[in-house]
Amino acid sequence: MNRFFNLLLLLIGLTGFSQPKSPTEFLPNYGKQVTYYHQVEAYFQQLVQNSDWIAYQKYGETTQERNLNAYYISTPDNLKNLEEIRKNHLYEIGLYPVKSNAKSKTIVWLSFNVHGNEIGAVESALSVAYELVNPNNKETKKWLEDIVVILDPCLNPDGFSRYANWLRDVSGRQTHPGVSDREHMEPWPGGRQNHYVYDLNRDWAWQTQVESQLRMDLYHEWMPMVHADVHEMGYNEPYFFPPAAEPYHEQIAPFQRDFHKKIGEITSKKFDKEGWMYYSGERFDLFYPSYGDTYPCYNGAVGMTYEQGGIGAGRAVMMKNGDILTLQDRIAHHTKAILTVVELSYVQKEVLTKAFRAYFKDNRTKPKGKYQTYIVKNHPRNLELSKLLNRNRIESSFADETKKLSGYHYQTNQEKLFTVEPNDLIIKVDQPRSVITQVLFEPHHKLSDSLSYDITAWSLPLAYGVESFAVKGNLPIKTKTKLATVNPAKITNAYAYYIPWNNRSSARVLSKLHQQNIKVRTALKEVYFGDLKVERGGLIVTKGDNSKVQHFEETIQHLIQEKFDYVALESGFAKNGGDLGGESYPLLKAPKVLTLAGSGVSNTDFGQVWFFMDQVIEYPMSIVEVQYFNRIKLSDYNTLILPEGWYGFSDGQKKEIDDFIAKGGKVIAVGGAVSQFEDREGYHLTKFATEEEKKEAQKLQEEAELADRFLDFENSERRFISGYIPGAIIENTIDSSHPLTFGLGEKYFSLKTTQSNFKLLKGAQNVIYVPKNYQSFGFIGNKLKKTLQETVSFAIDYRGNGKVIYMIDNPLFRGFWENGNLLFSNALFLVE
Ligand SMILES: [Zn+2]
Repeated sequence: MNRFFNLLLLLIGLTGFSQPKSPTEFLPNYGKQVTYYHQVEAYFQQLVQNSDWIAYQKYGETTQERNLNAYYISTPDNLKNLEEIRKNHLYEIGLYPVKSNAKSKTIVWLSFNVHGNEIGAVESALSVAYELVNPNNKETKKWLEDIVVILDPCLNPDGFSRYANWLRDVSGRQTHPGVSDREHMEPWPGGRQNHYVYDLNRDWAWQTQVESQLRMDLYHEWMPMVHADVHEMGYNEPYFFPPAAEPYHEQIAPFQRDFHKKIGEITSKKFDKEGWMYYSGERFDLFYPSYGDTYPCYNGAVGMTYEQGGIGAGRAVMMKNGDILTLQDRIAHHTKAILTVVELSYVQKEVLTKAFRAYFKDNRTKPKGKYQTYIVKNHPRNLELSKLLNRNRIESSFADETKKLSGYHYQTNQEKLFTVEPNDLIIKVDQPRSVITQVLFEPHHKLSDSLSYDITAWSLPLAYGVESFAVKGNLPIKTKTKLATVNPAKITNAYAYYIPWNNRSSARVLSKLHQQNIKVRTALKEVYFGDLKVERGGLIVTKGDNSKVQHFEETIQHLIQEKFDYVALESGFAKNGGDLGGESYPLLKAPKVLTLAGSGVSNTDFGQVWFFMDQVIEYPMSIVEVQYFNRIKLSDYNTLILPEGWYGFSDGQKKEIDDFIAKGGKVIAVGGAVSQFEDREGYHLTKFATEEEKKEAQKLQEEAELADRFLDFENSERRFISGYIPGAIIENTIDSSHPLTFGLGEKYFSLKTTQSNFKLLKGAQNVIYVPKNYQSFGFIGNKLKKTLQETVSFAIDYRGNGKVIYMIDNPLFRGFWENGNLLFSNALFLVE
């Protein structure tokens, strides 16, 4: 017997594999305490070392340098052929040129824990992976013959670790299921978001964050047919599985809907058997394109959201019904539901494969949307737009001839004659990523139900503020793949440099110049120097201002090279409009910035400011938590940023801010933070500028309340939305002579996400405001639609030597509103 045992060990040693351990065998505290991130990685490594049914790929690192990991789970044969399987899969949908010999397999992608504090997701990833590789589980072995599972156990390792490390810190031997305890009260900013406090589950399409960018690189190499996104929600909620709720975007294909229905049927049977509570079809809709269910759907997959109650539950918590919810329960529910995704993908493999391939073929040959070609006029902001298209693998090209056409004009929301010119960006929809292309460019989405819980418009031409058209036919036009790059002429005796102000690179360059103490001016007017037109907001760096700078030309050219449309001027003498030494070019002051953070400040809104400063324009700032406000010497700064928040400033603190402004300080208040100045002496922010406006609003309110007396309870939620805006795009008129609007274009399209509004202010500058009869995109409740006329979106209120910039809308919302990035740069750098 001993000899036989030795032989067995030898055989195991030779093949390199022994039995993979279950999570409980490997981690004695599994299901009782949160698993640290390094333990999650160690567990998966153990599976990889002990099983040839799983392979590993690191696909990058987070901001905090944690690994982003993907695991491929299938039969050993399939894993040996993985690359051939991938190429064959892509070939069948027109994304790879050569057919390979590999048999086709169904590609199923499982994503866990995009929200870091939803730990039941990561924990269940261990169990799901184990059941898939466990040699004693014959059923999963059968599925894997036809399926390749790509499993990402944690999409947000930084957020997960923030939560996990904290939960360990506050855990004693006792749990606290029935009572209040800090175990259930996560401190600011919480672990839901990533390092920069960005919600990665709003970032799939925009890919502003490094985790999203790296994951999407891998995603587009694979193009899965099924994608499950595994979450948690408030711990009193019963389990949620598909079908998703209405509204479904009209581009969701019938086979995607069918799969949703089927998965609901099969999963509910399994949950019935266990007596587990659940719901489906009621809450999570399929509309906004940047989620882990919609984004895969718009890329041909069946995208699905799974939600277990668990946020704030810690290790164990008592629910409303008196039952204790443990981490083990959360793991058990998710494991059952997510294994069912693999099972149904196996059962449906033929239907899925056929439908998936037809989807891509139809999109290439007969795309079904209203428009077939989008034309974006050549503009420096197209640089960033092209990056976004590339990240989404949307094919585009540049016009190489001139053509007169008629098409839908985004900026006026009507049909119009226009001319396509060389270098305009051309995006055609007859391409593999046809649906996501249309979803991102479509100006007006059909909403099957107005009860959506996210923004309802996001059209890229409006977000980027670039003049664009949509044309119904497939535009036959000569195109080229690259823009000819013009290198600025190197002048050895420059009198000054002109740097146009029109995109994020302008702001990045100014950020660099300020940090090197280079003196910079800005043009307040349009001026001609010979044939060169200097636009408003353009940066001017003169030799005269910077006489102490060594090697002026080389130094400046090096600092501004990113902005390749800069021009060197040989003279300061203007053809008209004022010479460079005149009064139209004030010197810019370098901002010394303080931003408040911490409890009472919206964590994601703070994160947007942080990311913008740290990564988008790379400009230093101090961040201080509100609770330490009294330790700050405000006079060390000249700019104070108040992100959206509910600041409980004392009278003394308010006075300090008043004095800071009176002495020349600038406050940028975003969203709800403007209420710090509302109806206060010395400021002009008030809901209604006149008694008449106030009376009119009261009258409307009273009429509505009287009418409501006869309405039923059932539709109360629907009535509520008549005064509601989940997120829509609104046309704004701008004062183009004001530095706050420099470079934005003729109008500004603002993404409005709250119903909060102020009638045009009396005594302040209403620089960007909603006109009467404005254009809008997306859903706005009909009562609110009227109310928003002649309200202000961005205003400046002067007090003493300083000012407050009111940003009623948040231009940095989720970081994808590219023209908003420029608007915020204006407020920071150009408004003096
Ligand atoms: Zn979540």
